[in-house]
Amino acid sequence: MSIPFSFELFPPRTAQVAERMPDVARALGALGPEFISVTFGAGGSSRDASLGVLEMVRDLGGARPLAHLTCVGSSFAEAAEVIAEFVDHGIVDFLALRGDPPQGMDEADDFLGDLRSAAELAQLIRGVRIARTPCELQTVGPRLDRWQVRRPSDGLLAVAAYPNGHPQAKSIEQDYDTLLAKEAAGANLAITQLFFEADDYLSFVEGARAYGVTMPILPGIMSITSIARLERMAALAGEAVPEKWRRALEGCRSDGARRELGIAQATAMCHDLLDGGAPGLHVYTHNRVDEPIELLCRVGAVDRTLVAA
Ligand code: FAD
Repeated sequence: MSIPFSFELFPPRTAQVAERMPDVARALGALGPEFISVTFGAGGSSRDASLGVLEMVRDLGGARPLAHLTCVGSSFAEAAEVIAEFVDHGIVDFLALRGDPPQGMDEADDFLGDLRSAAELAQLIRGVRIARTPCELQTVGPRLDRWQVRRPSDGLLAVAAYPNGHPQAKSIEQDYDTLLAKEAAGANLAITQLFFEADDYLSFVEGARAYGVTMPILPGIMSITSIARLERMAALAGEAVPEKWRRALEGCRSDGARRELGIAQATAMCHDLLDGGAPGLHVYTHNRVDEPIELLCRVGAVDRTLVAA
């Protein structure tokens, strides 16, 4: 049975990375992912660059592009304008995010704009997408032929989920509650933050289901092939760096050995996730091609003979 997978890219920050972006989009698209998502700098700092990569994903890689959007610091009008711009460029699948506080501010500061949460952004995306996408009008009520509604677009509307809890959440119940609110706002897919153990994800999903969340929850995966990545992942996951991982990486004598360790560990975790019922795998690529491909080949999601060809 085929294993669904998807990728995350981020807009290039250097000319060198920008130059190889078309090759990255082509190579990842050729593997047949469900979608390729592209991150968005909080405050809209990467708006044009994100749109450029999304178009590359679609036009060069032939994959379905999914745009991350954040709403911190935006007015309704500004957020609606960005959504409309993306939709008008043919980008209709989104990951709705609140975004982190701007540099120098923290969660206690008043850094939000008109939209207070990802759920509010999801609602706005739904509305703008329906208004801007050509879709059939349907008549509601047998005699009310002047009451016509636009059929809701069935595009992807993803949101973030946090297996180890969002740093701002006071309890895991608040995380479930937030996820439920996002689903009620129209979200039809959740993608998780990184985590270190398959059980973190599996028990989070079990709790979310018991709470009433029904949308698919896709685990976010990354191979940890260096100490720098390990530390970055711990910061994102809101966890302390696991000492056993640090020791294992420190014990490797070369970059090649660290790469092998990271991919082998990620492969084992992907098997545990899929055996536990994960609906697919969302791979954080860091704009690399070789490691994600190797991981998906080992997991059995990608046929190595087709990659070689
Ligand atoms: P929300 O779901 O709105 O909420 C975050 C927290 O606030 C939750 O813990 C929730 O419980 C709490 N909360 C929400 N509403 C309320 C309320 N009314 N009262 C009290 N508490 C509340 N960031 C970027 O800048 N760009 C990206 O491209 C990006 N991509 C990401 C992709 C994924 C898959 C993930 C998991 C994260 C990504 N992020 C990105 C990071 C994200 O922006 C931050 O984690 C941000 O702090 C929270 O965003 P959110 O959408 O989860 O927020």
